[in-house]
Amino acid sequence: MSVCIGVLAIQGDIQENLLSVRTVLADLGIDGKVIAVKTPHEISQIDGLIIPGGESTTIGQLSLVNGSLKILKEKIEKGMPVLGICAGMIMLSKTADDRIVGKTNQPLLEILDIKLERNSFGRQRESFESDISMESIGIPKFNGVFIRAPSVSDVGSDVEILSKLNERIVAVKKGNVIGTSFHPELTTDTSLHKYFVNLVKSKLN
Ligand code: GLN
Repeated sequence: MSVCIGVLAIQGDIQENLLSVRTVLADLGIDGKVIAVKTPHEISQIDGLIIPGGESTTIGQLSLVNGSLKILKEKIEKGMPVLGICAGMIMLSKTADDRIVGKTNQPLLEILDIKLERNSFGRQRESFESDISMESIGIPKFNGVFIRAPSVSDVGSDVEILSKLNERIVAVKKGNVIGTSFHPELTTDTSLHKYFVNLVKSKLN
């Protein structure tokens, strides 16, 4: 059965994620495609979704206005696998406050029972890379690229912590929903995208 992965194409690292998934599909020899999705109709056709990093307030506001926020929430609640990267993880969270300005009242999907601090590691000029580990999903070493990244300050009891950096939570998973503070699409290591594509494929069979 052919797999169709969508990359939410409102704002952010869209092309980079399309390329990462395309590479993984070819490397694994999986019958499938990856498409950029924006409208509710396009979203209705996918089996799994990546919400890219970018600016969560923009992604949230625009997807609210064009009606895609609602269908995204419905599909994810019905079990569609989703990988939320940085701003994408913010979109998945129940609560997100900014480190400096506090409450932002931005539209969120409120799917993952996590509390987030936006811009937790500082602003753009404090961007950095660091090795992290996601042992429980078979990725012992990964190059984490952190750009205005959030950290998870609290998790619900059923949310698995996948990775920590300096005692701060930077990757989480609950069922088919994965969130990372860092940007896997900005490295040449496709292991997290591979893990996600395999997860989406396993739900089709
Ligand atoms: N700081 C951004 C936000 O709050 C996220 C940054 C990113 O996705 N690289 O939306």
